[in-house]
Amino acid sequence: MKDTFRHKGLRKILVDNLREKGIRNEKVLEMINQIPRHQFLDNAFIQFAYQDKAFPIGSGQTISQPYTVAFQTQLLEINPYEKVLEVGTGSGYQSAVLIGMEANVYTIERQKDLFKKTKDFLPQLGYNCNFYYGDGYKGLSKFAPFDKIIVTCGAPKIPEDLILQLKVGGRMVAPIGSGDVQVMHLIEKMSETESRITTHGEFVFVPMLNNKNNGN
Ligand code: SAH
Repeated sequence: MKDTFRHKGLRKILVDNLREKGIRNEKVLEMINQIPRHQFLDNAFIQFAYQDKAFPIGSGQTISQPYTVAFQTQLLEINPYEKVLEVGTGSGYQSAVLIGMEANVYTIERQKDLFKKTKDFLPQLGYNCNFYYGDGYKGLSKFAPFDKIIVTCGAPKIPEDLILQLKVGGRMVAPIGSGDVQVMHLIEKMSETESRITTHGEFVFVPMLNNKNNGN
């Protein structure tokens, strides 16, 4: 699937739209402008790729809405070379944004089909990171601590294991809530025992599933 002038034009409009909705981080906006989101969608949805909406990606999952991706990434305050854990690889679009921001990305997915598909697909676009299959609710203790952690599925409560895997001074962004909507939480780890928690509005996510590895 080519990246045409039309696609590029649609991305510019999307970026203007995100700017109007309050996204201020220029590097985040630059990534949205660069990454061909239409290539992450099933053919049936390609024409909707540059609307600010979530879409199905198979295995009952969705690619997050561009605004949500931009908002979460902005809250993380990514700096180059930081080690970032992403829970919920999904289509790999959010991973691509993080990689584009020069983060060293570790991403974990619990749906085997999606894990395999994205592990093959993302490097083909030139985005390289570390892919894992498993339960991201428990994090990736082997590679901890992380500078930043981003959760891209709705967790019923703040995953304590993930806070443990965050560096002191690190930030975690996670949508929390088990109903139809989640509240975006920012957890700033102040010391080994203290975190500052703030909330940043309501969003809709697919639920985080924590009891098995292969939801297929
Ligand atoms: N970041 C993705 C968003 C995908 S939706 C993107 O940009 O496309 C959320 C993803 O989280 C789904 O793929 C779902 O399978 C995955 N997920 C749900 N529970 C999980 C868990 N416990 N561990 C890892 N991934 C999980």
